[in-house]
Amino acid sequence: MCGRTELGFLVYELTEACNQNCLFCYNHWRPAGCNPVDTRLARHTLRKILSQAKIGSISFSGGEPSLLGNLHDLVLKCRFAGSNVNVLTNGTLLTEADIRNFASLGIGTIQIPLLSHNCSVHDSLTRLPQSWEKARASLELALGILGADHVAAVLIVTARNASDLDPTLDLYRELGLRTIMVNRFNIGGNGIANRRELELAPDQLRTAFRCISDFSVRHPGMSFASGVCTPMCLMNPDDYPGIKFTSCTTDLRQRPLAISASGDVRFCNHSPFVLGNIYQRPLREILEDESLIARYTGVPQECSACHLYPRCKGGCRAASEQLYGSFSRIDPIAETLLAK
Ligand code: SF4
Ligand code: SF4
Repeated sequence: MCGRTELGFLVYELTEACNQNCLFCYNHWRPAGCNPVDTRLARHTLRKILSQAKIGSISFSGGEPSLLGNLHDLVLKCRFAGSNVNVLTNGTLLTEADIRNFASLGIGTIQIPLLSHNCSVHDSLTRLPQSWEKARASLELALGILGADHVAAVLIVTARNASDLDPTLDLYRELGLRTIMVNRFNIGGNGIANRRELELAPDQLRTAFRCISDFSVRHPGMSFASGVCTPMCLMNPDDYPGIKFTSCTTDLRQRPLAISASGDVRFCNHSPFVLGNIYQRPLREILEDESLIARYTGVPQECSACHLYPRCKGGCRAASEQLYGSFSRIDPIAETLLAK
């Protein structure tokens, strides 16, 4: 019996269910509907994961993780196993008691989307009335209880909220936020059907990121990070010094994998492709499977001669899997670029 495999980072999707139905939601299952919350399954699978892997940091995601009544027990299990825990929530269901519990459990970061300074823009994106008030209230509570080092706002940049970013960025500062995750709309899930109204033209996307980068440079106490890989021929990180761009490795042992409550292992939370299931095969074996590793070695045709490929990797190719059913194709956002 081998020891537990070591993972730096894992996204654990506790449930497919969500009380919102965001226009941009990239969950691959959402357009077809989702399985209901299953608290026992989520707990059982977490136990299985922790028996197979030693994990540096686990992000609880979904769907909406706070739909689970036993969320704090699950956080506690991870903390006992020595893992840092982050909670990625829409913030609409959290109570003060929930956040105080997170504080006592030593949670890492709680991430809550606040998509605009304008409540009707936010609510039109989440398709849940009053979600803006609730998300904002949860951010304020979390900032007061956990402190700014443990709270991040999430901004998904779409055609609906990109035209007046300055007041949104000012709101983050007024609330006392210091960490903002800023991701461009990445096609997948609900976003496939809503692409035309959410996707920005290349120059609009660059203008939006320039605005965020400039704001960040003016406010050095705040940090902005972008976690969705983007083709560098569309947006070169070097042009946005105020934003920290993360890159995406194809090494299965080194990257942030996603595991669902049913035990399915995927390349990331954007990818729909199931590498294997931990109830059928140990995680270590899945990650060492040569045929699966080979799946991620192809280079998109458009990128074959590009010197930027080692850094860029053709953008987010989990989005290519969602749209084209293939990891070997360039990020679909490049279509927009190449069409210009
Ligand atoms: S993006 Fe998040 S909050 Fe919105 S529907 Fe998807 S899981 Fe729910
Ligand atoms: S690697 Fe591909 S997507 Fe990235 S900059 Fe080069 S051509 Fe564009």
